[in-house]
Amino acid sequence: MDHVSKDVRSKIMAAVHSRGNTTTELPLGKILWAANLRGYRKHWPVVGKPDFAWPGRKVAVFVDGCFWHGCRCKYLPRTNTKFWRNKIETNKRRDRRVSQSLRRGGWAVVRVKECAVRKPSTLARIGAAVLIGRADRAIAPSVTPSPRSLNRKPQTHLPGRSNKRGESKSPTHR
Ligand SMILES: [Zn+2]
Repeated sequence: MDHVSKDVRSKIMAAVHSRGNTTTELPLGKILWAANLRGYRKHWPVVGKPDFAWPGRKVAVFVDGCFWHGCRCKYLPRTNTKFWRNKIETNKRRDRRVSQSLRRGGWAVVRVKECAVRKPSTLARIGAAVLIGRADRAIAPSVTPSPRSLNRKPQTHLPGRSNKRGESKSPTHR
């Protein structure tokens, strides 16, 4: 990376960093669709512009690229290490701020690492958040979770929603 100008480097970074690339958002979109978790909006205009959001249920899903969000599955480049570490730490701080801010507003936030997009547990997490909806969170946005939410186990399978044909037809674009 050292041989390219700052200008070119920032363009490369913008391209890699941009959301909606093929290793993150597209595969998860297909998985959600196949699992009947539909009716989401992409890049809903709330804090952080979640990759997928169910605004009515207040569920936000972010797909985070492993390198840019500091996943342990990636190593830092050997050159300019300080620069990259800084950059990634900044991203992680922003991730935390975004998640906190949304949760304070009653949203359920699910962050998915690029390398975990295809894990069944990822789908289970999203499915649980979407199906539970926002009722509990809207009533009790306090710091201490209610006993009910503590006892609740994440659902590992999703009940069919074939009776709601209209839902799948709602537009996914803005
Ligand atoms: Zn990873």
